Amino acid sequence: MPPRIAILPGDGIGPEVIDEAVKVLQAAGVAADFEFALIGGAAIDATGVPLPDETLELCRQSDAVLLGAVGGPKWDTLEPAHLRPEVGALLPLRRELNLYANVRPARTMRPLVHASPLKEGRSMIDLIVVRELTGGIYFGERFRKDDGKTAIDTAVYTRAEVERITLRAFEIARQRRHQVVSVDKANVLETSRLWRETVNDLAAQNPDISVTHMLVDNCAMQLVRDPGQFDVILTENMFGDILSDEASMITGSLGLLPSASLSDANGDKVFGLYEPIHGSAPDIAGQSRANPLAAILSAAMMMRFTFGDGRTADRIEAAVEAALDEGLRTADIFENETRLVSTTEMGDAVAAKLRP
Ligand code: NAD
Repeated sequence: MPPRIAILPGDGIGPEVIDEAVKVLQAAGVAADFEFALIGGAAIDATGVPLPDETLELCRQSDAVLLGAVGGPKWDTLEPAHLRPEVGALLPLRRELNLYANVRPARTMRPLVHASPLKEGRSMIDLIVVRELTGGIYFGERFRKDDGKTAIDTAVYTRAEVERITLRAFEIARQRRHQVVSVDKANVLETSRLWRETVNDLAAQNPDISVTHMLVDNCAMQLVRDPGQFDVILTENMFGDILSDEASMITGSLGLLPSASLSDANGDKVFGLYEPIHGSAPDIAGQSRANPLAAILSAAMMMRFTFGDGRTADRIEAAVEAALDEGLRTADIFENETRLVSTTEMGDAVAAKLRP
């Protein structure tokens, strides 16, 4: 049976960039059943809800999910909030599919080294943030005390939650440079002390991985000072939310950054949802100006993590770099002496490099 990939294009530029990602997978010879379903505003317009049951069921029956982006001014203020695309589609999808490990690579593309907001002369960046996605302060009890003037958010972590994300970070580090920096605030927070103890116990059982610890405030600083020092950054939900945005942006354009949200392994396959980190960009939707490379690189991550096919992932990443090397640029990364291309032209160029 060929693998089954659920394709959820979503809204705005979502369908435009997803078309290019599917084109590139096909050009790379990936023989899968690509099954399309509605999500976000497109699903609201067609069915009245942002995450129809059929879409969730298709994802459950699939080996992986490739998502574009959801949302737009037409739907973002709908009441009640669970009808809105992000709250009503993305959050339940992550919860229902148990996607507890958010993985975000930040890598300098050689032809775009100037796009980094950091000064020249910095080391090349090639790191991955592994963020715990379903625990911590975002999921703890929150309330106001009676007078309304005191607000309380609770951060909760269990040892089991820390163990599974740590082991996932170790697995990822094993495919790379075997170095994990675990980021916490163990000088203040009890959840961080449990986090550190657990990571240390697992580090002792996995001596092939070099594990060090860093306080989150220092990590935020080190990412700007010397991002080349990091291989895998492992951290909890809220710290990861902030650090992964910081790490992403030091490489350059939003239109280039992929992500994965992973669940448990089933045999040798890891179920995952893959998506560019950008949104639906309503300001440029329908104009073929969107950069499809983040979606294409998300498809490459899918080949590496869900299908264990690092070779195809490497080929897709090399094809992206080759297209950039030729000077092709979508509007968001255009510079003098490069050639401005549309969304489809960029996808075509990457696909052409993959065809035998
Ligand atoms: P956004 O990422 O959509 O856009 C921010 C800016 O970056 C815009 O100027 C846009 O044109 C540009 N941009 C984004 N992706 C690009 C690409 N691939 N190529 C070229 N330029 C690109 O963020 P926003 O404007 O804050 O949000 C717009 C909508 O997207 C909202 O409805 C928001 O809720 C939604 N959103 C969805 C997701 C998701 O689906 N995961 C994530 C973030 C935002």
